[in-house]
Amino acid sequence: MNDEHRRSILKCVHCGTCRAYCPVFNEYGWESTNARGRMLIAQQIDDDSDIDDSFRFSLDTCTTCGICEQMCPSGATPPDVVENARAAVVRKVGASKAQEKLKNDTVEWGNPLRESRQRLHWLEPAQKEELPDKCEYVYFAGCMTAYRYPEVARKTFDILKKLGVGVLEDEVCCGSPLLRTGSDASELIGHNLEQIKKSGAKTIITGCAGCYTTLKKDYPDEFEVLHVSEFLEKKLDELDIRKLDISVSYHDPCHIGRAHGIYEAPRNVIRRICNLEEMDTHHENARCCGGGGGVRRSFSDLSQSLASKRMDEVPEKAELLVTSCPLCRSNLEMAAEDRELIDIIELLEKAMC
Ligand code: SF4
Ligand code: SF4
Repeated sequence: MNDEHRRSILKCVHCGTCRAYCPVFNEYGWESTNARGRMLIAQQIDDDSDIDDSFRFSLDTCTTCGICEQMCPSGATPPDVVENARAAVVRKVGASKAQEKLKNDTVEWGNPLRESRQRLHWLEPAQKEELPDKCEYVYFAGCMTAYRYPEVARKTFDILKKLGVGVLEDEVCCGSPLLRTGSDASELIGHNLEQIKKSGAKTIITGCAGCYTTLKKDYPDEFEVLHVSEFLEKKLDELDIRKLDISVSYHDPCHIGRAHGIYEAPRNVIRRICNLEEMDTHHENARCCGGGGGVRRSFSDLSQSLASKRMDEVPEKAELLVTSCPLCRSNLEMAAEDRELIDIIELLEKAMC
């Protein structure tokens, strides 16, 4: 653990404010599953106390949603401390079988989904021929969008290419699933950095909140990173958009919202197209979808329960729930019942003449 994380642990004055906000504590009710408990556990790990599996449960059930950090009166940063403590556990006692498998799969296949399809399978063969060798702006689709929502990747690129954006020749996983769960992702990062260099890109554009936070936080500060909504917000006048007579609601992904303050760009895109009805909690108070921090993969019941609570916050008037992250969308779809979810790009595509 570095000094910054140690300082953060010391900043925790155990006031318990975070207990009222932590969605996971709200499910389990155990002190070890809120930020205050997790900070104490991180301290014990740093002090070299004996580590057993209960430590892992406490750390691994954190979705890194960041609402504790948002509300903390002392300025502590529990999500960063949790991620760091997870890495310390892996260093001290080794990776769990699930972590080992996730890492091996992601490095071997270039994605955590064990997908053998080509990364750019979502592009038409003719479009592949037309790709420029060098580009100032590059679209980074990410694993979830490329393999679980390829139509979103295709629609995103259809819009972005008109605005001079290219793609990487051989993108692999950004490393988020490994980094967020305490593993090393240097091989994947190194590969993508080489690809970015080769492309000549100065700006990377992604529609995935997990990729966004990883490219921004864990890659060297050598290029600008934009969420697709930030890029498109400034280009709306260049796109032929008509107003749609519908009302939608918007789910703030934690990893672009609270983590990076991207609240208005997606809302500005949506408001240009149709009416926006806010969810019960939104902006910095938004409830987590339950999918982040590796929780969806390891604790699916917890993830599903958090997704259900988030879906209960969709206002009646909203005909669609718009997301700007494929992981949030996929997690919320588990609890959507008769509600329809779409990506912000799909909403934009509906409105383009
Ligand atoms: S709100 Fe902040 S200071 Fe208070 S217990 Fe939680 S992490 Fe510690
Ligand atoms: S990041 Fe979210 S899940 Fe983790 S301790 Fe803080 S409030 Fe709880």
